[in-house]
Amino acid sequence: HREHYLVGLVGEGITVSLTPPMHEAEAAALGLDYEYRTFDLIELGLRAEDVGRVLDEAKRDGFAAMNITHPCKQLVLDLVDELDADAARLQAANLVVFDDGHLIGYNTDWIGFRDGLTVGLPDASFDRVLQIGCGGAGAATAYALLSHGTTRLGLCDVDYQRAQNLAGRMQALFPDQSIVAVPRAALDGGIAGANGVVHATPMGMSHHPGVAFDLSLLRAGAWVSEVVYRPLQTELLRRAEERGHPVLDGGRMAVGQAYASLQIITGTVPDRARMERHFRAL
Ligand code: NAD
Repeated sequence: HREHYLVGLVGEGITVSLTPPMHEAEAAALGLDYEYRTFDLIELGLRAEDVGRVLDEAKRDGFAAMNITHPCKQLVLDLVDELDADAARLQAANLVVFDDGHLIGYNTDWIGFRDGLTVGLPDASFDRVLQIGCGGAGAATAYALLSHGTTRLGLCDVDYQRAQNLAGRMQALFPDQSIVAVPRAALDGGIAGANGVVHATPMGMSHHPGVAFDLSLLRAGAWVSEVVYRPLQTELLRRAEERGHPVLDGGRMAVGQAYASLQIITGTVPDRARMERHFRAL
């Protein structure tokens, strides 16, 4: 515990991030003296590779922690003194804690997604899941699903190589579960056979309109989970809800990673429902 917490976020294009207000509002409600600053590499005229300089300065300035976002989540792996076991398995860190000058890397993206599943879809089956999108968010969601009991995971991406790479990495981490790369030509069958679908591509954001798969293929009762959270209500979620499917929006993961980060940084348990309410009012 500290008297005063100085925390930051480093990455590209983060000036409009909702993470700072989430941290500050919840920390204030918990009675903590907590300040959250952003370090946008583009605005600072820095490259992704300069993230080490930002971390050095933060350490020198007495920061308690830094959240790390795109495109630095892999770069920081080489900069920390210690890596949490899950961050090491995932090979991505979105939180670095400064512990007496000792840097420890964590990954709370997958925790945020997993907690969203548990809280938001309490009665759902996670046995067979089809995931579309195998980039940064997709790696965290796949890891969360496999940690949460998915026994058969299909991974699809327009870039088939990415699906194959992620499937190979996850299969090595979860040898007793079945993880397969699904070619786009086989996507329809994968959707039809799944208890639920995770959407982890940028489709649904204003500059990527549309829906990544045919919703009419979903089984009755199949759930749909979205990672996009700008907007919160994507076309995918709107249409899935209209068809009566249980849905989980991308805000769950966004709040969940902030909740888990705040808990690791301060050692205090935040109020998840309060954080959800605050996020949805932003
Ligand atoms: P990324 O670029 O790393 O990965 C996206 C992947 O989707 C790529 O591999 C791409 O080839 C694939 N793809 C794109 N269109 C596709 C399509 N139509 N069908 C199949 N595959 C397709 O991006 P990312 O960092 O993973 O981010 C993806 C989205 O997730 C963004 O909208 C981002 O804002 C969001 N995100 C949300 C959270 C959260 O907490 N909710 C966290 C991280 C990212």
